[in-house]
Amino acid sequence: MGPVAAVEAIRSVFASFGLTAIRQVRRGQYRPLALAALLVGLCQAGQAQETQRASPSTPPGGAVTLFQNVRIFDGKSGTLTGPSNVLVRGNQIERISTGPIPTDRSATTVLIEGGGRTLMPGLIDMHWHTMLVRPTVAALLTADIGFLNLVAGAEATATLMRGFTTVRDMGGPAFGLKRAIDEGTVVGPRVFPSGAMITITSGHGDFRQPFELPRTVGAPMSRGEQIGAAMIADSPDEVRVRVREQLMLGASQIKLTAGGGVASPHSPLDATTFTEAELRAAVEAAENWGTYVTVHAYTPASIQRAIAAGVKCIEHGHLMDEATAKLIAEKGIWLSTQAFPDELADAFPPGSLERAKALEVFAGTDRTFTLAKKYKIKTAWGTDVLFSEKLAQRQGELLTKLVRWYTPAETLVMATGTNAQLLALSGKRNPYPGKLGVVEEGARADLLLVDGDPIANIKLIEDPDKNLLVIMKDGRIYKNALRE
Ligand SMILES: [Zn+2]
Repeated sequence: MGPVAAVEAIRSVFASFGLTAIRQVRRGQYRPLALAALLVGLCQAGQAQETQRASPSTPPGGAVTLFQNVRIFDGKSGTLTGPSNVLVRGNQIERISTGPIPTDRSATTVLIEGGGRTLMPGLIDMHWHTMLVRPTVAALLTADIGFLNLVAGAEATATLMRGFTTVRDMGGPAFGLKRAIDEGTVVGPRVFPSGAMITITSGHGDFRQPFELPRTVGAPMSRGEQIGAAMIADSPDEVRVRVREQLMLGASQIKLTAGGGVASPHSPLDATTFTEAELRAAVEAAENWGTYVTVHAYTPASIQRAIAAGVKCIEHGHLMDEATAKLIAEKGIWLSTQAFPDELADAFPPGSLERAKALEVFAGTDRTFTLAKKYKIKTAWGTDVLFSEKLAQRQGELLTKLVRWYTPAETLVMATGTNAQLLALSGKRNPYPGKLGVVEEGARADLLLVDGDPIANIKLIEDPDKNLLVIMKDGRIYKNALRE
């Protein structure tokens, strides 16, 4: 391409894409290379058009898949439909009908004979840490970030193959991985990233050792901060900076730790960490950007302070009391929680402070779910698997544990349609606009074909290798065990 053509090309790019192109280039952080990036983008767009013209059999809307004879769990109601057909075009569910759906039976249309099996929305995990699932804490704080990204990429593929088509990342340097997944370089779920979790000195997520204190102005940041896993902020001004940095990087929501945590070496469980003014600074910065703040909080004091500051979602909440549950319900605050598996405590040596903290939290699980049901709190579910590839393999089982408090149907609605309602709180910062977590016309096509009825037998979810026959995300098929 000659210089004149290049200038023309840039003009037409601006004309056709307007500011979007510039913004995308900025977002991708290639500002110094803006010109080159635009040119490359233009050439790629040209190539894509060539390809489409060269193969007219490809429908303009993209690939087409027809699921025939499936019973639908729609992510909203607790019952299955009668035998139905579902047409997916591009990344959308185009049509659902009990009658036959005529479609072009060309080679580009994938026909899936459901045989009366269940078609349901992809599962959503609302408390995931894409970058922190497989490495140990030591590896996270010492290993090369390239290595950590590759490990996280492998885990992301495994996550999708367990039927989790979306995760809300509750802290960690996930932006690169998210981009690689969205661009198709790595197979994985949709990621709603928070970026670094924001904490205070000695708060949950501050993994520094005593020898690293005191922090002095101008000194290098701690390793956890350098890689964007957790940022330490000790005033409203510092909080604002860190929140805005995550938003600039593309965070869809902001995560703060409002109280002590189990795995953090220097944060007592009873500690309330941020001041109300600090929390409010985060809330203002997030709301100015059209999104919300969620906080890690177990105790009544930390939950109540967060709500007073305008926080819209509480993570965990295992030590809440009756008055706090009432407040959460009255204010319409979301509770995003889980039943931690007892084995998690085994990660900590007997007699250790961390183990004692774990057991204290676990003891509150039953009361919290009971209160959530009693006060009809808007409840979402996520696993919070950390530093354990083995536990991650049981992601589905961590969901089915909820049948101690909910019916299988209620449990599955929570992990699909309800979780998606909380995702939508990201407003225009939602990286994947459109409906998620439901099977309905016009929704994004994130679908699972289950070999059986998961409402009658929710344990099917515990063995995805065997029981999830088709896994589709955004209209693309990542697994089709019926093809053989
Ligand atoms: Zn977490």
